[in-house]
Amino acid sequence: MNILAIGCHPDDLEIGCGGTLARYARQGHTVIMLHVANGNRGHAEIMPAELREIRLAEAQKAGLTLGAVQVLTLDTPDLEVDSALPETIRKLVDVIRQAQPDVIITHAPDDYMRDHVEVSRLVFDASFSASVPHYFTQIQTPARITPLYYMDTVAGVNFLPSEYVDISETIETKLEALNCHQSQIRWLYDHDGIDFLDFVRTASKFRGLQCGVAYAEGFRLCQTWPRLTTKRLLP
Ligand SMILES: [Zn+2]
Repeated sequence: MNILAIGCHPDDLEIGCGGTLARYARQGHTVIMLHVANGNRGHAEIMPAELREIRLAEAQKAGLTLGAVQVLTLDTPDLEVDSALPETIRKLVDVIRQAQPDVIITHAPDDYMRDHVEVSRLVFDASFSASVPHYFTQIQTPARITPLYYMDTVAGVNFLPSEYVDISETIETKLEALNCHQSQIRWLYDHDGIDFLDFVRTASKFRGLQCGVAYAEGFRLCQTWPRLTTKRLLP
């Protein structure tokens, strides 16, 4: 299968579905990761232009660690993600048409900050628009309306998973990928006293507790026609 994971900032996918992506890759599926925002405002000392470069490089390294074949970006500045912007929708439609995904994973519609919520809305809309032949973009081959999974919110707040993926065998890979985002990990530790690797390990352990395994990631299927299927699409 072709798996398209669409996160907002570099590191969001590692947090929400890194263990699942690593499992897909190990099973031989094609994993493509896309970040809508470039993460340029995710620091209070490193200036945006420099941080953008750092975070693009960190994202590539992390994607490689998870086994993704491509790590792409729409390069939108942080806090400027707008799901109503036709240019952004068209750019995303082209990524979807190029990837021809069997599964799309993205943020839940009510995650903790506006950019994430906008990405969720953007993916819902673009994955429909990508199927419409007369919606003209750079790539004219339509994609089918793809089953869409929402990944966990940060710290799992206000998110009740309907499906779980056992990531006991990929938890270390997930954390290794997350650790590639040193600009974020170090910043959180130095300035907020948050050990973010421990934070994410704890969240994965909590999801594991809910479904009887050591570590898990939780998901919710977007339940709208015609995205539903009789098949189990998560690994
Ligand atoms: Zn984010």
